Amino acid sequence: MEKLIGDLDVLSPQDTEATEAIHLLKDENRGNKRKLYIESYGCQMNYADSEIVASILQKEGFDTTSDIAAADVVFLNTCSIREKAEQTVRYRLTHINGLKKHKPELLVGVLGCMAERLKAKFLEEEKIVDLVAGPDAYRDLPSLISQVDEGQKAVNTFLSREETYADISPVRLNSNGVTAFISIMRGCDNMCSFCVVPFTRGRERSRDPHSIVAEAQDLFAKGFREVTLLGQNVDSYKWSPEENSKAWIEKNGINNVVNFANLLELVAKVHPDLRVRFSTSHPKDITDEVLYTMAKYENICKNIHLPMQSGSSRILDLMNRGYTREWYLEKAMSIRRILGDDCGISSDMITGFCTETEEDQQDTLSLMNIVKYDFAYMFYYSERPGTLATKKYTDDIPLDVKKKRLEEVVIRQREHSLIRNLLDVGKVHKVLIEGFSKRSDNDLQGRTSANKVVVFPKGTHKKGEYVHVLVEECTGGTLIGKVVNS
Ligand code: SAM
Ligand code: SF4
Repeated sequence: MEKLIGDLDVLSPQDTEATEAIHLLKDENRGNKRKLYIESYGCQMNYADSEIVASILQKEGFDTTSDIAAADVVFLNTCSIREKAEQTVRYRLTHINGLKKHKPELLVGVLGCMAERLKAKFLEEEKIVDLVAGPDAYRDLPSLISQVDEGQKAVNTFLSREETYADISPVRLNSNGVTAFISIMRGCDNMCSFCVVPFTRGRERSRDPHSIVAEAQDLFAKGFREVTLLGQNVDSYKWSPEENSKAWIEKNGINNVVNFANLLELVAKVHPDLRVRFSTSHPKDITDEVLYTMAKYENICKNIHLPMQSGSSRILDLMNRGYTREWYLEKAMSIRRILGDDCGISSDMITGFCTETEEDQQDTLSLMNIVKYDFAYMFYYSERPGTLATKKYTDDIPLDVKKKRLEEVVIRQREHSLIRNLLDVGKVHKVLIEGFSKRSDNDLQGRTSANKVVVFPKGTHKKGEYVHVLVEECTGGTLIGKVVNS
Protein backbone atom coordinates (compact mmCIF):
# COMPACT_ATOMS: atom_id res chain seq x y z
CA MET A 1 0.00 0.00 0.00
CA GLU A 2 2.88 2.41 0.80
CA LYS A 3 3.96 2.06 -2.84
CA LEU A 4 0.47 2.83 -4.11
CA ILE A 5 0.13 5.88 -1.91
CA GLY A 6 3.57 6.98 -3.09
CA ASP A 7 2.50 6.61 -6.72
CA LEU A 8 -0.60 8.64 -6.08
CA ASP A 9 1.39 11.40 -4.41
CA VAL A 10 3.27 11.78 -7.67
CA LEU A 11 0.13 13.42 -9.03
CA SER A 12 1.40 16.62 -7.47
CA PRO A 13 -0.95 19.23 -6.04
CA GLN A 14 -1.90 22.27 -8.07
CA ASP A 15 -0.69 25.05 -5.86
CA THR A 16 -1.32 27.91 -8.22
CA GLU A 17 -4.47 29.99 -7.90
CA ALA A 18 -7.03 29.21 -10.55
CA THR A 19 -7.08 31.62 -13.44
CA GLU A 20 -9.44 29.84 -15.80
CA ALA A 21 -12.97 31.05 -16.32
CA ILE A 22 -15.57 28.63 -14.99
CA HIS A 23 -17.98 27.49 -17.67
CA LEU A 24 -21.45 26.74 -16.44
CA LEU A 25 -22.41 24.24 -19.08
CA LYS A 26 -26.08 24.19 -18.20
CA ASP A 27 -26.64 26.31 -21.31
CA GLU A 28 -23.84 25.48 -23.64
CA ASN A 29 -24.38 26.53 -27.21
CA ARG A 30 -21.59 25.52 -29.52
CA GLY A 31 -23.81 25.57 -32.55
CA ASN A 32 -24.40 21.84 -32.45
CA LYS A 33 -27.44 20.39 -34.13
CA ARG A 34 -28.98 18.73 -31.09
CA LYS A 35 -29.62 19.92 -27.57
CA LEU A 36 -29.74 17.79 -24.44
CA TYR A 37 -31.83 18.57 -21.37
CA ILE A 38 -31.37 16.45 -18.22
CA GLU A 39 -33.43 16.47 -15.06
CA SER A 40 -32.09 14.61 -12.02
CA TYR A 41 -34.11 13.14 -9.19
CA GLY A 42 -33.06 11.59 -5.88
CA CYS A 43 -29.61 11.38 -4.40
CA GLN A 44 -26.39 13.23 -5.12
CA MET A 45 -25.10 10.18 -6.98
CA ASN A 46 -27.74 10.81 -9.62
CA TYR A 47 -26.69 14.43 -10.02
CA ALA A 48 -23.09 13.28 -10.40
CA ASP A 49 -24.20 10.67 -12.96
CA SER A 50 -26.06 13.30 -15.00
CA GLU A 51 -22.77 15.18 -15.29
CA ILE A 52 -21.18 12.02 -16.70
CA VAL A 53 -24.04 11.60 -19.16
CA ALA A 54 -23.66 15.24 -20.29
CA SER A 55 -19.96 14.63 -20.81
CA ILE A 56 -20.54 11.49 -22.90
CA LEU A 57 -23.07 13.26 -25.10
CA GLN A 58 -21.03 16.44 -25.38
CA LYS A 59 -18.37 14.35 -27.09
CA GLU A 60 -21.08 13.15 -29.47
CA GLY A 61 -21.83 16.73 -30.48
CA PHE A 62 -24.71 17.64 -28.17
CA ASP A 63 -25.12 21.07 -26.61
CA THR A 64 -26.78 21.27 -23.20
CA THR A 65 -29.78 23.43 -22.43
CA SER A 66 -31.68 24.40 -19.29
CA ASP A 67 -34.81 25.03 -21.36
CA ILE A 68 -36.79 21.85 -21.87
CA ALA A 69 -38.76 23.47 -24.71
CA ALA A 70 -35.50 23.99 -26.65
CA ALA A 71 -34.34 20.38 -26.22
CA ASP A 72 -34.13 17.64 -28.84
CA VAL A 73 -33.35 14.99 -26.24
CA VAL A 74 -34.88 14.98 -22.75
CA PHE A 75 -33.46 12.65 -20.12
CA LEU A 76 -34.96 12.06 -16.69
CA ASN A 77 -32.36 10.57 -14.35
CA THR A 78 -34.67 8.80 -11.93
CA CYS A 79 -34.84 7.53 -8.34
CA SER A 80 -36.64 4.44 -7.00
CA ILE A 81 -35.87 4.75 -3.31
CA ARG A 82 -39.46 5.43 -2.27
CA GLU A 83 -42.74 5.03 -4.12
CA LYS A 84 -43.26 8.79 -4.11
CA ALA A 85 -39.99 9.33 -6.00
CA GLU A 86 -41.28 7.08 -8.80
CA GLN A 87 -44.69 8.79 -8.85
CA THR A 88 -42.99 12.17 -9.30
CA VAL A 89 -41.25 10.88 -12.43
CA ARG A 90 -44.51 9.49 -13.82
CA TYR A 91 -46.21 12.89 -13.36
CA ARG A 92 -43.31 14.57 -15.05
CA LEU A 93 -43.61 12.22 -18.02
CA THR A 94 -47.25 13.23 -18.40
CA HIS A 95 -46.14 16.83 -18.69
CA ILE A 96 -43.40 15.95 -21.21
CA ASN A 97 -46.03 14.07 -23.21
CA GLY A 98 -47.68 17.45 -23.79
CA LEU A 99 -44.41 18.80 -25.21
CA LYS A 100 -43.98 15.77 -27.43
CA LYS A 101 -47.37 16.31 -29.00
CA HIS A 102 -46.05 19.62 -30.41
CA LYS A 103 -42.61 18.19 -31.21
CA PRO A 104 -43.01 14.51 -32.18
CA GLU A 105 -39.28 14.13 -32.95
CA LEU A 106 -38.42 14.86 -29.28
CA LEU A 107 -36.46 11.89 -27.88
CA VAL A 108 -37.45 11.02 -24.29
CA GLY A 109 -35.14 8.82 -22.24
CA VAL A 110 -35.37 7.46 -18.71
CA LEU A 111 -32.08 6.83 -16.92
CA GLY A 112 -31.04 5.72 -13.45
CA CYS A 113 -32.64 3.54 -10.81
CA MET A 114 -36.22 3.49 -12.11
CA ALA A 115 -34.92 2.52 -15.55
CA GLU A 116 -32.92 -0.30 -14.00
CA ARG A 117 -35.83 -1.51 -11.88
CA LEU A 118 -38.46 -1.52 -14.62
CA LYS A 119 -36.25 -2.24 -17.65
CA ALA A 120 -38.17 -2.81 -20.92
CA LYS A 121 -41.45 -2.80 -18.95
CA PHE A 122 -41.05 0.97 -18.78
CA LEU A 123 -41.53 1.19 -22.54
CA GLU A 124 -44.84 -0.68 -22.26
CA GLU A 125 -46.07 1.30 -19.27
CA GLU A 126 -45.09 4.76 -20.53
CA LYS A 127 -45.59 4.94 -24.29
CA ILE A 128 -43.90 8.33 -24.49
CA VAL A 129 -40.51 6.84 -23.48
CA ASP A 130 -38.11 6.02 -26.35
CA LEU A 131 -35.03 4.98 -24.43
CA VAL A 132 -34.29 3.25 -21.12
CA ALA A 133 -30.73 3.14 -19.74
CA GLY A 134 -29.58 1.83 -16.35
CA PRO A 135 -26.79 3.43 -14.28
CA ASP A 136 -24.02 1.29 -15.81
CA ALA A 137 -25.13 1.75 -19.44
CA TYR A 138 -24.31 5.41 -20.04
CA ARG A 139 -21.37 4.75 -22.36
CA ASP A 140 -23.90 3.07 -24.63
CA LEU A 141 -26.13 6.17 -24.87
CA PRO A 142 -24.81 7.34 -28.26
CA SER A 143 -25.68 3.98 -29.81
CA LEU A 144 -29.03 3.83 -28.00
CA ILE A 145 -29.87 7.29 -29.38
CA SER A 146 -28.93 6.07 -32.89
CA GLN A 147 -31.33 3.15 -32.50
CA VAL A 148 -34.13 5.56 -31.61
CA ASP A 149 -33.16 7.77 -34.58
CA GLU A 150 -33.64 4.70 -36.76
CA GLY A 151 -37.16 4.30 -35.47
CA GLN A 152 -36.71 1.68 -32.74
CA LYS A 153 -37.10 1.82 -29.00
CA ALA A 154 -33.80 1.29 -27.13
CA VAL A 155 -33.01 -0.40 -23.80
CA ASN A 156 -29.77 -1.18 -21.96
CA THR A 157 -30.02 -2.10 -18.29
CA PHE A 158 -26.92 -4.28 -18.09
CA LEU A 159 -25.29 -3.98 -14.65
CA SER A 160 -21.52 -4.12 -14.69
CA ARG A 161 -19.05 -5.40 -12.11
CA GLU A 162 -16.34 -3.00 -13.30
CA GLU A 163 -17.83 0.23 -14.62
CA THR A 164 -16.81 3.33 -12.60
CA TYR A 165 -16.67 5.92 -15.45
CA ALA A 166 -13.23 6.73 -14.03
CA ASP A 167 -11.90 8.15 -17.31
CA ILE A 168 -14.88 10.43 -17.96
CA SER A 169 -14.49 14.02 -16.93
CA PRO A 170 -17.96 15.18 -15.82
CA VAL A 171 -19.52 18.31 -17.32
CA ARG A 172 -20.53 20.42 -14.30
CA LEU A 173 -24.24 21.14 -14.58
CA ASN A 174 -25.97 23.81 -12.47
CA SER A 175 -22.63 24.45 -10.85
CA ASN A 176 -21.96 27.33 -8.48
CA GLY A 177 -18.30 27.05 -9.55
CA VAL A 178 -17.24 26.50 -5.94
CA THR A 179 -18.48 23.07 -4.82
CA ALA A 180 -18.57 19.82 -6.80
CA PHE A 181 -19.30 16.14 -6.34
CA ILE A 182 -16.85 13.37 -7.16
CA SER A 183 -18.16 9.80 -7.40
CA ILE A 184 -15.63 7.50 -5.76
CA MET A 185 -17.54 4.24 -5.99
CA ARG A 186 -20.70 2.73 -7.44
CA GLY A 187 -23.25 0.17 -6.32
CA CYS A 188 -23.78 -1.32 -2.89
CA ASP A 189 -23.22 -4.81 -1.44
CA ASN A 190 -25.06 -4.24 1.81
CA MET A 191 -28.57 -5.51 1.25
CA CYS A 192 -30.37 -3.45 3.88
CA SER A 193 -33.76 -5.15 3.78
CA PHE A 194 -35.75 -1.96 3.00
CA CYS A 195 -33.51 -0.76 0.21
CA VAL A 196 -33.78 -1.06 -3.55
CA VAL A 197 -30.30 0.36 -4.30
CA PRO A 198 -28.38 -2.95 -4.49
CA PHE A 199 -30.87 -4.07 -7.17
CA THR A 200 -30.80 -0.85 -9.18
CA ARG A 201 -27.13 0.05 -8.90
CA GLY A 202 -25.52 -3.36 -8.75
CA ARG A 203 -22.38 -4.63 -7.04
CA GLU A 204 -20.07 -2.32 -5.20
CA ARG A 205 -16.97 -1.11 -7.07
CA SER A 206 -14.35 1.46 -6.11
CA ARG A 207 -12.97 3.93 -8.59
CA ASP A 208 -9.24 4.17 -9.33
CA PRO A 209 -7.83 6.71 -6.81
CA HIS A 210 -5.48 8.19 -9.44
CA SER A 211 -8.51 9.37 -11.40
CA ILE A 212 -10.21 10.71 -8.25
CA VAL A 213 -7.14 12.74 -7.25
CA ALA A 214 -6.75 13.99 -10.83
CA GLU A 215 -10.40 15.09 -10.90
CA ALA A 216 -9.97 16.96 -7.59
CA GLN A 217 -6.81 18.67 -8.92
CA ASP A 218 -8.61 19.68 -12.09
CA LEU A 219 -11.53 21.11 -10.11
CA PHE A 220 -9.18 23.10 -7.89
CA ALA A 221 -7.38 24.51 -10.93
CA LYS A 222 -10.76 25.61 -12.31
CA GLY A 223 -11.53 27.56 -9.13
CA PHE A 224 -13.57 25.00 -7.19
CA ARG A 225 -12.85 25.04 -3.47
CA GLU A 226 -14.82 22.07 -2.16
CA VAL A 227 -15.32 18.50 -3.29
CA THR A 228 -17.73 15.93 -1.85
CA LEU A 229 -16.65 12.32 -2.31
CA LEU A 230 -19.75 10.26 -3.03
CA GLY A 231 -20.63 6.62 -2.49
CA GLN A 232 -23.46 4.63 -0.91
CA ASN A 233 -21.02 3.39 1.74
CA VAL A 234 -17.75 5.29 1.47
CA ASP A 235 -16.24 3.34 4.36
CA SER A 236 -16.12 0.22 2.23
CA TYR A 237 -14.08 1.99 -0.48
CA LYS A 238 -11.24 -0.40 -1.33
CA TRP A 239 -9.11 -0.33 -4.44
CA SER A 240 -6.09 -2.27 -5.59
CA PRO A 241 -4.52 -2.52 -9.05
CA GLU A 242 -5.84 -6.11 -9.24
CA GLU A 243 -9.41 -5.68 -7.94
CA ASN A 244 -11.76 -2.75 -7.37
CA SER A 245 -14.27 -4.30 -5.02
CA LYS A 246 -13.98 -4.83 -1.29
CA ALA A 247 -15.62 -8.27 -1.59
CA TRP A 248 -13.09 -9.53 -4.15
CA ILE A 249 -10.12 -7.88 -2.45
CA GLU A 250 -11.01 -9.63 0.81
CA LYS A 251 -11.84 -12.93 -0.90
CA ASN A 252 -8.48 -12.98 -2.70
CA GLY A 253 -6.50 -11.80 0.34
CA ILE A 254 -5.03 -8.80 -1.52
CA ASN A 255 -2.94 -6.53 0.76
CA ASN A 256 -1.83 -3.81 -1.63
CA VAL A 257 -4.95 -1.72 -1.04
CA VAL A 258 -6.05 1.93 -0.88
CA ASN A 259 -8.81 2.23 1.71
CA PHE A 260 -11.13 5.17 2.39
CA ALA A 261 -8.86 6.79 5.00
CA ASN A 262 -5.96 6.64 2.50
CA LEU A 263 -8.12 8.15 -0.23
CA LEU A 264 -9.33 10.96 2.05
CA GLU A 265 -5.74 11.84 2.86
CA LEU A 266 -4.76 11.85 -0.82
CA VAL A 267 -7.59 14.20 -1.74
CA ALA A 268 -6.92 16.43 1.30
CA LYS A 269 -3.33 16.82 0.08
CA VAL A 270 -4.41 18.16 -3.32
CA HIS A 271 -4.42 21.65 -1.77
CA PRO A 272 -5.00 23.00 1.76
CA ASP A 273 -7.60 25.40 0.30
CA LEU A 274 -9.64 22.58 -1.19
CA ARG A 275 -12.24 21.46 1.31
CA VAL A 276 -13.10 17.78 1.31
CA ARG A 277 -16.45 16.31 2.35
CA PHE A 278 -17.85 12.83 1.91
CA SER A 279 -21.12 10.95 2.08
CA THR A 280 -22.44 8.43 3.10
CA SER A 281 -20.71 6.78 6.06
CA HIS A 282 -22.00 3.47 7.33
CA PRO A 283 -22.09 2.88 11.11
CA LYS A 284 -20.97 -0.73 10.68
CA ASP A 285 -17.90 0.19 8.62
CA ILE A 286 -16.64 3.64 9.69
CA THR A 287 -13.20 3.29 11.30
CA ASP A 288 -11.19 5.32 13.81
CA GLU A 289 -8.55 5.56 11.06
CA VAL A 290 -11.01 7.67 9.04
CA LEU A 291 -11.76 9.84 12.09
CA TYR A 292 -8.05 10.39 12.85
CA THR A 293 -7.43 11.29 9.19
CA MET A 294 -10.22 13.87 9.46
CA ALA A 295 -8.64 15.26 12.63
CA LYS A 296 -5.21 15.49 10.94
CA TYR A 297 -6.29 17.73 8.03
CA GLU A 298 -7.96 21.08 8.62
CA ASN A 299 -9.43 20.99 5.09
CA ILE A 300 -11.33 17.73 5.68
CA CYS A 301 -14.65 19.08 6.86
CA LYS A 302 -15.75 18.06 10.32
CA ASN A 303 -19.11 16.63 9.42
CA ILE A 304 -20.26 13.04 9.21
CA HIS A 305 -23.48 11.74 7.72
CA LEU A 306 -24.03 8.57 9.74
CA PRO A 307 -27.53 7.23 9.06
CA MET A 308 -29.05 5.58 12.10
CA GLN A 309 -32.33 4.45 10.43
CA SER A 310 -33.75 3.22 13.76
CA GLY A 311 -32.76 3.38 17.43
CA SER A 312 -34.10 -0.11 18.15
CA SER A 313 -31.68 -3.03 17.90
CA ARG A 314 -34.57 -5.34 17.04
CA ILE A 315 -35.61 -3.19 14.07
CA LEU A 316 -31.99 -2.67 12.98
CA ASP A 317 -31.66 -6.45 12.86
CA LEU A 318 -34.81 -6.78 10.70
CA MET A 319 -33.41 -3.99 8.52
CA ASN A 320 -30.22 -6.05 8.11
CA ARG A 321 -28.13 -2.98 8.94
CA GLY A 322 -25.30 -4.96 10.54
CA TYR A 323 -25.11 -2.98 13.81
CA THR A 324 -27.01 -2.56 17.07
CA ARG A 325 -28.11 0.54 18.97
CA GLU A 326 -25.09 0.11 21.28
CA TRP A 327 -22.67 -0.22 18.36
CA TYR A 328 -24.12 2.92 16.77
CA LEU A 329 -23.75 4.86 20.02
CA GLU A 330 -20.17 3.69 20.34
CA LYS A 331 -19.44 5.10 16.86
CA ALA A 332 -21.10 8.41 17.70
CA MET A 333 -19.01 8.59 20.90
CA SER A 334 -15.82 7.89 18.90
CA ILE A 335 -16.69 10.85 16.66
CA ARG A 336 -17.09 13.09 19.71
CA ARG A 337 -13.89 11.73 21.32
CA ILE A 338 -11.70 12.13 18.23
CA LEU A 339 -13.28 15.13 16.50
CA GLY A 340 -14.89 16.99 19.40
CA ASP A 341 -18.31 18.50 20.01
CA ASP A 342 -18.15 20.86 17.04
CA CYS A 343 -18.13 18.02 14.51
CA GLY A 344 -21.48 17.95 12.70
CA ILE A 345 -23.33 14.65 12.78
CA SER A 346 -26.34 14.07 10.56
CA SER A 347 -28.57 11.07 10.02
CA ASP A 348 -31.30 9.33 8.06
CA MET A 349 -34.29 7.88 9.92
CA ILE A 350 -37.11 5.60 8.81
CA THR A 351 -40.30 5.35 10.86
CA GLY A 352 -42.91 2.61 10.64
CA PHE A 353 -40.71 -0.22 9.38
CA CYS A 354 -42.34 -3.67 9.49
CA THR A 355 -43.43 -4.72 13.02
CA GLU A 356 -42.22 -1.46 14.60
CA THR A 357 -43.83 -0.92 18.03
CA GLU A 358 -44.26 2.22 20.14
CA GLU A 359 -41.33 0.97 22.21
CA ASP A 360 -39.12 0.82 19.09
CA GLN A 361 -40.21 4.35 18.24
CA GLN A 362 -39.22 5.50 21.76
CA ASP A 363 -35.81 3.88 21.18
CA THR A 364 -35.38 5.99 18.05
CA LEU A 365 -36.35 9.17 19.90
CA SER A 366 -34.07 8.36 22.83
CA LEU A 367 -31.08 7.65 20.57
CA MET A 368 -31.75 11.01 18.89
CA ASN A 369 -31.74 12.64 22.34
CA ILE A 370 -28.33 11.18 23.11
CA VAL A 371 -26.60 11.93 19.79
CA LYS A 372 -28.37 15.25 19.07
CA TYR A 373 -28.00 15.40 15.31
CA ASP A 374 -27.37 18.70 13.62
CA PHE A 375 -29.53 17.64 10.73
CA ALA A 376 -31.48 14.61 9.49
CA TYR A 377 -33.34 13.28 6.48
CA MET A 378 -36.47 11.60 7.80
CA PHE A 379 -38.84 9.26 5.99
CA TYR A 380 -41.66 6.87 6.67
CA TYR A 381 -41.14 3.35 5.38
CA SER A 382 -42.14 2.77 1.78
CA GLU A 383 -42.23 -0.86 0.68
CA ARG A 384 -40.20 -1.39 -2.48
CA PRO A 385 -40.72 -4.27 -4.91
CA GLY A 386 -38.05 -6.95 -4.88
CA THR A 387 -36.39 -5.96 -1.60
CA LEU A 388 -35.66 -8.43 1.21
CA ALA A 389 -38.26 -6.78 3.47
CA THR A 390 -40.94 -7.17 0.82
CA LYS A 391 -40.12 -10.87 0.50
CA LYS A 392 -39.75 -11.63 4.22
CA TYR A 393 -42.01 -9.26 6.20
CA THR A 394 -45.44 -7.72 6.07
CA ASP A 395 -45.69 -3.96 5.67
CA ASP A 396 -47.98 -3.95 8.70
CA ILE A 397 -47.77 -0.45 10.15
CA PRO A 398 -50.78 1.64 9.04
CA LEU A 399 -49.91 4.77 7.05
CA ASP A 400 -51.35 7.12 9.69
CA VAL A 401 -49.14 5.53 12.37
CA LYS A 402 -46.05 5.75 10.13
CA LYS A 403 -46.84 9.43 9.54
CA LYS A 404 -47.54 10.18 13.22
CA ARG A 405 -44.21 8.63 14.20
CA LEU A 406 -42.46 10.53 11.44
CA GLU A 407 -43.93 13.76 12.74
CA GLU A 408 -42.61 13.00 16.24
CA VAL A 409 -39.16 12.39 14.83
CA VAL A 410 -39.30 15.58 12.73
CA ILE A 411 -40.36 17.67 15.74
CA ARG A 412 -37.60 16.18 17.88
CA GLN A 413 -35.05 16.83 15.16
CA ARG A 414 -36.13 20.47 14.82
CA GLU A 415 -35.51 20.93 18.54
CA HIS A 416 -32.08 19.36 18.27
CA SER A 417 -31.07 21.36 15.17
CA LEU A 418 -31.87 24.55 17.07
CA ILE A 419 -29.99 23.38 20.18
CA ARG A 420 -26.94 22.51 18.06
CA ASN A 421 -27.07 25.81 16.14
CA LEU A 422 -27.38 27.83 19.37
CA LEU A 423 -24.04 26.35 20.44
CA ASP A 424 -22.47 28.19 17.48
CA VAL A 425 -23.76 31.63 18.51
CA GLY A 426 -20.85 33.76 19.73
CA LYS A 427 -18.29 31.61 17.90
CA VAL A 428 -16.21 32.48 14.84
CA HIS A 429 -16.34 29.98 11.96
CA LYS A 430 -14.32 29.67 8.79
CA VAL A 431 -16.84 29.80 5.97
CA LEU A 432 -16.47 29.01 2.28
CA ILE A 433 -18.68 31.44 0.34
CA GLU A 434 -20.97 29.66 -2.15
CA GLY A 435 -22.93 32.65 -3.51
CA PHE A 436 -25.71 35.06 -2.66
CA SER A 437 -28.15 34.19 0.09
CA LYS A 438 -31.51 32.90 -1.12
CA ARG A 439 -33.33 35.92 0.32
CA SER A 440 -31.18 38.91 -0.60
CA ASP A 441 -28.40 39.92 -2.97
CA ASN A 442 -27.00 42.09 -0.17
CA ASP A 443 -26.08 38.94 1.75
CA LEU A 444 -23.81 36.06 0.95
CA GLN A 445 -24.09 32.48 2.11
CA GLY A 446 -21.61 29.74 2.72
CA ARG A 447 -20.99 26.76 4.94
CA THR A 448 -19.00 26.03 8.04
CA SER A 449 -16.79 22.98 8.26
CA ALA A 450 -19.71 21.26 10.06
CA ASN A 451 -21.87 21.90 6.95
CA LYS A 452 -24.08 24.57 8.50
CA VAL A 453 -25.38 27.34 6.26
CA VAL A 454 -24.22 30.81 7.35
CA VAL A 455 -25.68 34.08 6.01
CA PHE A 456 -23.86 37.41 6.38
CA PRO A 457 -23.69 40.88 4.75
CA LYS A 458 -21.64 40.67 1.58
CA GLY A 459 -19.26 43.64 2.05
CA THR A 460 -16.58 43.27 -0.62
CA HIS A 461 -16.49 39.48 -0.50
CA LYS A 462 -17.11 37.07 -3.37
CA LYS A 463 -18.05 33.46 -3.82
CA GLY A 464 -15.15 31.02 -3.63
CA GLU A 465 -13.42 33.01 -0.84
CA TYR A 466 -12.90 31.86 2.72
CA VAL A 467 -13.99 34.31 5.43
CA HIS A 468 -14.25 34.16 9.20
CA VAL A 469 -17.76 34.83 10.40
CA LEU A 470 -18.87 35.65 13.93
CA VAL A 471 -22.24 33.97 14.44
CA GLU A 472 -24.62 36.40 16.15
CA GLU A 473 -27.95 34.60 15.92
CA CYS A 474 -29.51 31.51 14.42
CA THR A 475 -32.63 29.63 13.42
CA GLY A 476 -32.89 25.83 13.35
CA GLY A 477 -31.66 25.86 9.73
CA THR A 478 -29.32 28.85 9.40
CA LEU A 479 -26.58 30.71 11.25
CA ILE A 480 -26.56 34.49 10.85
CA GLY A 481 -23.51 36.65 11.46
CA LYS A 482 -20.89 39.07 10.18
CA VAL A 483 -17.40 38.77 8.74
CA VAL A 484 -14.80 39.57 11.37
CA ASN A 485 -11.64 39.15 9.30
CA SER A 486 -10.60 37.25 6.23
N1 SAM B 1 -26.39 4.30 1.52
C1 SAM B 1 -26.93 5.16 2.45
C2 SAM B 1 -27.04 4.48 3.80
O1 SAM B 1 -26.81 3.34 3.97
O2 SAM B 1 -27.39 5.13 4.74
C3 SAM B 1 -28.26 5.74 2.08
C4 SAM B 1 -28.87 5.45 0.80
S1 SAM B 1 -30.55 5.82 0.49
C5 SAM B 1 -30.36 6.52 -1.08
C6 SAM B 1 -30.96 7.21 1.47
C7 SAM B 1 -31.92 6.95 2.57
O3 SAM B 1 -33.19 6.65 2.06
C8 SAM B 1 -31.60 5.79 3.48
O4 SAM B 1 -30.61 6.08 4.41
C9 SAM B 1 -32.93 5.52 4.13
O5 SAM B 1 -33.11 6.28 5.30
C10 SAM B 1 -33.93 5.98 3.07
N2 SAM B 1 -34.62 4.84 2.47
C11 SAM B 1 -34.10 3.86 1.73
N3 SAM B 1 -35.05 2.96 1.40
C12 SAM B 1 -36.21 3.39 1.95
C13 SAM B 1 -37.53 2.91 1.98
N4 SAM B 1 -37.86 1.76 1.38
N5 SAM B 1 -38.47 3.62 2.65
C14 SAM B 1 -38.15 4.76 3.27
N6 SAM B 1 -36.91 5.28 3.28
C15 SAM B 1 -35.94 4.60 2.64
FE1 SF4 C 1 -29.28 0.91 0.62
FE2 SF4 C 1 -28.15 -0.06 2.82
FE3 SF4 C 1 -26.73 0.12 0.56
FE4 SF4 C 1 -27.42 2.34 1.90
S1 SF4 C 1 -26.06 0.72 2.64
S2 SF4 C 1 -27.58 1.99 -0.31
S3 SF4 C 1 -29.41 1.80 2.68
S4 SF4 C 1 -28.49 -1.19 0.91
